[in-house]
Amino acid sequence: MRPSVEQRLTAELEGFKRDGVYKRLNYLDSPQAARVVMEGRGDVIILSSNNYLGLCTVPEVIRAGHEALDRFGAGTASVRFICGTFTIHRELEAELASFVGTEASLSFVSCWTANEAVCPTVLGPEDIVISDQLNHASIIDSIRLARQITKCQHALYRHSDMKDLEEKLQAAKEARSRLIFTDGVFSMEGDVARLADIVALAQKYDAAVAVDDSHATGVLGRTGRGTPEHTGTLGQIDIITSTLGKALGGASGGFVASSTAFCDYLTQRSRPQLFSNALPCTIAGSAMAAVRYLRSHPELITRLRQNTAYFRDQLKARGFKPIDGDTPIIPVILGETAKAIQMSEMLLSEGVFVTGFGYPVVPKGEARVRCQISAAHTRGDLDQALRAFDKVGRKLKLV
Ligand code: PLP
Repeated sequence: MRPSVEQRLTAELEGFKRDGVYKRLNYLDSPQAARVVMEGRGDVIILSSNNYLGLCTVPEVIRAGHEALDRFGAGTASVRFICGTFTIHRELEAELASFVGTEASLSFVSCWTANEAVCPTVLGPEDIVISDQLNHASIIDSIRLARQITKCQHALYRHSDMKDLEEKLQAAKEARSRLIFTDGVFSMEGDVARLADIVALAQKYDAAVAVDDSHATGVLGRTGRGTPEHTGTLGQIDIITSTLGKALGGASGGFVASSTAFCDYLTQRSRPQLFSNALPCTIAGSAMAAVRYLRSHPELITRLRQNTAYFRDQLKARGFKPIDGDTPIIPVILGETAKAIQMSEMLLSEGVFVTGFGYPVVPKGEARVRCQISAAHTRGDLDQALRAFDKVGRKLKLV
């Protein structure tokens, strides 16, 4: 007799456990912050959250969520065009557009759905999307959907390889339109897309540029406007997608920022808008407060930068080899997957929560622990984490 679906899945889950790739969930009993209370572990320093600015626990951000809940109630109860949309969505969308430097923006329940809304909605069989090999899974799936639904064309360029991108653009000269799609910051490496070069190539080959700035909004650039500000291309990116679930309060939600026409077209035609509820108003309130808070507290970005430079330098001084870069994502390459997982477990025993990543998330032999720094970390938090790295690194003979 054939195994039932449940039997098959159970057997596969056992396999994940045997292979050491089963993900155990760690339960927290406190808000996301520099330190959290982890069930069974107590007080733990978090070095693996996207709470880059520490806004998850800022009273103004929390209060704005409460106020929106009181004013608009718990739910949106349907799709925006069917049952009405909330004024707070319009206000949030104007705030986000002004922050990232576009004419308009449109909110979604996540950046995953924002990305999925883009390619299948705007590309047809005559069009091509050309994407970086290391793009986030949600961009990859957006392109997969588009290829399936609209039969659009697709080409992949080697990671940040501008020569390869130019070859792909040249080969796509006959397409009706060309869309280059890249992450702003690549989450596993922490490196920044070469947006100035990409914009120059886009101009040369009459292409549009879409940037998923999830790890950069609120983080990169002098005032936190993201990769375009960091690379001197503010106002030159056609489509920006980003999340509200990282630096901007960390709840969830995402958005597409672009021209008024582009956002209107997504409102009319994108399936995640037409067939799914709007962003909860509580999140809209908190995210808007997060942007406003950031505008009036630029010192958060300075602190994030100082913390990042300190942690990276101190890791190096202790003999570790973090990948160099400009972002608060600091991967420490360890080699084999088992080593990364072991190191992550041992660090947790020392009170530091940092996730290990191995193949297939990263290439074979490049397993790593990925540290993410926050403006909320105090020097004391970082020093305690560094002492734990030192101790565990020595035990594992890494340093
Ligand atoms: N894009 C990038 C680059 C991300 O890192 C993530 C989250 O991991 C997403 C999109 C998805 O964001 P959200 O959690 O808002 O769906």
